[in-house]
Amino acid sequence: MAWDFSTDPDFQAKIEWAEAMVRTEVSRLDLLWPHDVYKPLTEAQRAVVAPLKQQVRDQGLWAAHLGPELGGQGYGQLKLALLNEVLGMATWAPRIFGTQAPDTGNAEIIAHYGTPDQKAAYLKPLLEGEIVSCYSMTEPSGGADPAVFVTRAVREGDDWVINGEKFFSSNARWADFLIVMAVTDPEAPLLDRMTMFLVPANTPGVQIVRNLALFGEPDEEGSHALVRYTDVRVPASSALGEVGKAFAVAQTRLGGGRVHHAMRTVGQAQRALDMMAERALSRTTQGTLLADKQLVQSFLADSYIELQQFRLLVLYTAWQIDKFQNYNKVRKDIAAIKVQTPRVLESIARRAVQVHGALGVTTEMPLAKILSRGLSLALADGPTEVHQVTVARQLLRGYKPAEGPWPSEHIPTRREEARVALLGEGV
Ligand SMILES: Cc1cc2nc3c(=O)[nH]c(=O)nc-3n(C[C@H](O)[C@H](O)[C@H](O)COP(=O)(O)OP(=O)(O)OC[C@H]3O[C@@H](n4cnc5c(N)ncnc54)[C@H](O)[C@@H]3O)c2cc1C
Repeated sequence: MAWDFSTDPDFQAKIEWAEAMVRTEVSRLDLLWPHDVYKPLTEAQRAVVAPLKQQVRDQGLWAAHLGPELGGQGYGQLKLALLNEVLGMATWAPRIFGTQAPDTGNAEIIAHYGTPDQKAAYLKPLLEGEIVSCYSMTEPSGGADPAVFVTRAVREGDDWVINGEKFFSSNARWADFLIVMAVTDPEAPLLDRMTMFLVPANTPGVQIVRNLALFGEPDEEGSHALVRYTDVRVPASSALGEVGKAFAVAQTRLGGGRVHHAMRTVGQAQRALDMMAERALSRTTQGTLLADKQLVQSFLADSYIELQQFRLLVLYTAWQIDKFQNYNKVRKDIAAIKVQTPRVLESIARRAVQVHGALGVTTEMPLAKILSRGLSLALADGPTEVHQVTVARQLLRGYKPAEGPWPSEHIPTRREEARVALLGEGV
């Protein structure tokens, strides 16, 4: 019977190696340089980071999301999911392991749709972790509805000229290039209306209007940019994928990434649960340990149950992707884990904060930051509600309306059918 929850021993050994590395060495980078994860490295940082990256390469775990054609191991989504659970435990871990978003997704689409010249210019340095990229799609008028996007690219001779504004372009300030989604045919149906462009960050007319900081970040560390594109001229060869087919490109980008985000969230939520349990066993109030209070036990038990349910759904989704080799076939469950990712993180982090009392809401514990990450995850890569719609639509595809006036489970109707079938009695 092909039904198994175990990991093959060789890969399990790699996961254990990665976990030890992340918990000890990589988590130290979070403590020293909490706001520098996306920035170009200083000399001091490079001296620390380069040997860590080398150890990851030596283990065959560098950029593990890549297929063999790009120099990766072709581990498949299930193994990647297990690895990402570990990488969720430290903010620096994806950078040390060469799986930093949005660079991973950006590399994925350049690998898939890029011309040989585009791959040479952008993909190779991206995969080496030498440069940073930005995905510039959301607009100030709204991110959840691409039908409202107005950033325009107009063809002039051999060039495209881009004008417009993009909001929340993460890491634009550190990026060497931006992937910009722009309207190329305003009259076309939505799915043929826009094109992706590869735009070097130093192209004249690319201007960062301001960098927005997330809750809890110092303003000056903000890295989500409002970017203005004013007469930005790029050659026709800058189009990534077919002209008009930006949506096809965007879809390719998101499939595996959502599984990785979900499993990193499992790793973070596990950390929050670990902290909650440790605190419950360490703190006494009114004569007993917190761990002995039934309401706190309920926090712990519910957190464990929510986390295990979610983890299994994510692993099952990854397993299906490997089995079908087709993201579209697994769309419902990919959307389902996207919906559940922020909920599980918020729910567990919220309880962990509470069990820590006042200490929990301070910056002396990582819990409030983990909690606020839940808020971001409910928006980044599309808000929860949009993904709920996808789950519902995909779910409904498996059903049809009842025949006749009564539901198919209507007991009197079924009883009558049973009577006819078993006893041969007519009405
Ligand atoms: C941390 C972070 C990083 C991000 N990085 C990037 C990036 O690198 N590049 C990029 O282009 N964008 C990025 N985004 C933007 C993100 O994709 C958008 O925030 C998201 O698509 C929602 O768009 P919006 O913020 O304009 O909200 P809106 O589109 O204004 O939606 C607001 C709210 O309306 C409701 N809503 C919207 N649509 C529906 C619907 N169909 N049904 C029911 N309710 C609905 C939801 O509650 C939603 O949260 C990032 C966002 C965050 C938080």
